[in-house]
Amino acid sequence: MLLSELETGKSGVIAKVNGHGGFRKRLIEMGFISGKKVSVVLNAPLRDPIEYEILGYKLSLRREEASMIEVISEEEARSNEPIGSKISEEVAIEAEMERLADARRREIRVVLVGNPNCGKTSLFNIASGAHEHVGNYSGVTVDAKEGHFEWKGYKIVLVDLPGTYSLSSYSPEELYVRKNLTEVVPDVVINVVDSSNIERNLYLTTQLIDMNLRTVIALNMYDELISKGDEIDTVQLGKLFGVPVCPTVSRSGEGVPRLFDTVLDIYKGASASVARHIHINHGAELEKSIDRVRGALIQDMSLRSKYSARYLAIKYLEGDSAVESILSGRPCTEEIARIRAEEELRIKEILGTNCESAIVDAKYAFINGALTETWRQHREIKHRRTFTDRIDSIVTNKWAAFPIFVLLLYLMFFVTFTVGQYPMDWIEAGIDYIRSVVGSAMSDGWFRSLLVDGCIAGVGSVLVFLPNILILYCFISLLEDSGYMARAAFIVDKLMHHLGLHGKSFIPMVMGFGCNVPAIMATRTIESRKSRLITIFIIPFMSCAGRLPIFVLIAGAFFPGNAPLVLLGIYLLGVVMAIVSALIIKRFVRDDDLPFVMELPPYRVPTGKAIWRHTWEKGRQYLQKMATTILVCSVLIWFLGYFPRSEKLDTASAAYSQMVENQEVLADSSGVVSLEEQAALVNRLYEEQQAGSYIGRLGKATEPVLAPLGINWKMGVSLLTGIAAKELVVSSLGVMYSQGAKISQDQDLQEDSALRQALADDISWPSALAFMVFVLLYFPCIATFVAIKNETGKWRWAIGTCAYTMIVAWFMALLTHILCSL
Ligand code: GDP
Ligand code: MG
Repeated sequence: MLLSELETGKSGVIAKVNGHGGFRKRLIEMGFISGKKVSVVLNAPLRDPIEYEILGYKLSLRREEASMIEVISEEEARSNEPIGSKISEEVAIEAEMERLADARRREIRVVLVGNPNCGKTSLFNIASGAHEHVGNYSGVTVDAKEGHFEWKGYKIVLVDLPGTYSLSSYSPEELYVRKNLTEVVPDVVINVVDSSNIERNLYLTTQLIDMNLRTVIALNMYDELISKGDEIDTVQLGKLFGVPVCPTVSRSGEGVPRLFDTVLDIYKGASASVARHIHINHGAELEKSIDRVRGALIQDMSLRSKYSARYLAIKYLEGDSAVESILSGRPCTEEIARIRAEEELRIKEILGTNCESAIVDAKYAFINGALTETWRQHREIKHRRTFTDRIDSIVTNKWAAFPIFVLLLYLMFFVTFTVGQYPMDWIEAGIDYIRSVVGSAMSDGWFRSLLVDGCIAGVGSVLVFLPNILILYCFISLLEDSGYMARAAFIVDKLMHHLGLHGKSFIPMVMGFGCNVPAIMATRTIESRKSRLITIFIIPFMSCAGRLPIFVLIAGAFFPGNAPLVLLGIYLLGVVMAIVSALIIKRFVRDDDLPFVMELPPYRVPTGKAIWRHTWEKGRQYLQKMATTILVCSVLIWFLGYFPRSEKLDTASAAYSQMVENQEVLADSSGVVSLEEQAALVNRLYEEQQAGSYIGRLGKATEPVLAPLGINWKMGVSLLTGIAAKELVVSSLGVMYSQGAKISQDQDLQEDSALRQALADDISWPSALAFMVFVLLYFPCIATFVAIKNETGKWRWAIGTCAYTMIVAWFMALLTHILCSL
């Protein structure tokens, strides 16, 4: 009987826990394990939830949940066995309950699900010994047929269902099959897959995975696959799908014994290496939609026992009418309808299609990815080749793949830097104009300095890089949305495996060139823990856009002729360090070896809207950061650099201004001084003032550590500020070397190159190079630090990564300085 039917005070032995995987797992974790005794504390007719006691604990279950558990009651045991002697009655009943529960547990309901004509009925007949009519046309099986047979001590009830291509609610067959999977949840599903039409057949499999049912794939018509000369790695395919794959020939019965052995394994609870519940990755955007609907659905407790919430969410987004009617008239109905309408619009805008076809596409991308990894076709069938196949044959070609790949990356960086130069110049000119206008409109003093040297110089030096960042992100989303990035992942997969990484690590790594924070969050798509951790660990070496301004500034100042080459070198150094670090760290991370699919979506011309959205999103974040963190920090840095104020400097520069204004020569206690001499005095005093300021003292404290690298205290200060955000390195250099107080001998010097000039005057080129190396490799930034902690769940990883990057940065910078000084 069902647990929900057991009356107050009665007890029973659990025979079976039905329902989908997630639900069953939760109940088993609560202690509802077959063979265990459960007693009812309180079960009043209208009461919900019901209270139970199991393993000495009291807990309550909703009526629907309890109806998913089968038990053997005392009455059932009693009516089955004549009562023995009075003394042993208790014991005998108990033993009988356990025996009956075990017998019930050994009865397995197995259903056959598959496309029409994939060989279900043949399999049914050969397994059960029945002789159903087998015909080579669809629709022969109208009703479910049941057969029984014994297998290794278990009684298998085999059910032959009508053939369906999918589990949507379009045809009566599809609805019928679905009802058989959700209302009477089978113990195990055998998904019969026709291997001569594998791609199409596996579509149904992906839907079974969504439903989270215990499934085994019978890869049927295997004889035809072999005779065609194809090869398929069934073990790997099974691992990728999280569902074991057994090759069968249901005409002759070959492979059928192994199939049912596997069915028993799955029923008894196989290890994760044989069967595990995976989530088919529908892509970042759709997954967001699924999560939103799912989030609203799981509020409704009454649905949880029968359906996997994820399955319902996906089906609901597909607009499935049967699921719609399940979800109608519930507390969450209005909310999910609203969410769906919003998500439908959003998906339409970003992906250019409706949710339903986007979901279908995502599922085929998954299948395509899994098959590309496991299926060697003897010869390609030329006439069936699609647009996507044709592009794929070029970009994943043995010889062309890598050159194309490198070319695209080169193009990306080339355009970012060359085309980005123009808007950069305009913004720079604009900022200089504002600076000079504000500067001349105000009288001398701390407030003018705060505005001009603090706010405008600090924020302005970061703002100029906005075009670079927009272009870079535009490229990244172009590559991603067109479907090329997924192929790139495939191309580098083999290489990545040597580093303990996975092809999927590649996309987060490229994203790291934009910003490390979203890159670290993007590692969520990597299912293997080991690959994920290693990827997170090395992403900080991917030079983010925040570091770009520093390199552009320094390379422009010190290597004007070879700036692009130096930039490329710096980026490459980051990649090399990432590789080396991966090789080191991979020895320390435990292996879990769970393979997963790299989805291969069809190629598609990306919609302008989607590209714009992704790009603008990043631009907005960048601007936001400037209006908050960078503005505040710039003012703070200005403050620390401006105070304590030297009075001598103030009088000297006031005198200088007066001299310039009146075109005269001043006399002071030491005699007559020329304009040049006074300028030199101001500059000397300015240096003194800076060194004596709060920030100067801070910078001086870094000197013992940074001096061996040839990095002076001003650069040391900028490195300290870079811990908050890398963009601040440039803005603090800008504030500290700002021309507001210091007088340049060369008055004709263009304002925009002033910082560059000041740097070139102050620093030697080996120091500059060492500085770039240090900036590339050291502590990523606070935001990345927090992201690492959040994604790994451990402070240990965040702190370890930071310590490691610091040490590497120091040694590499030292090496650079020594080599260049020779
Ligand atoms: P159903 O529609 O899924 O029930 O498929 P059937 O069992 O009716 O089989 C359809 C056709 O495929 C029949 O002609 C079978 O003889 C044939 N068939 C089934 N299994 C195999 C197999 O493993 N290999 C080959 N070559 N043919 C098979
Ligand atoms: Mg049939």
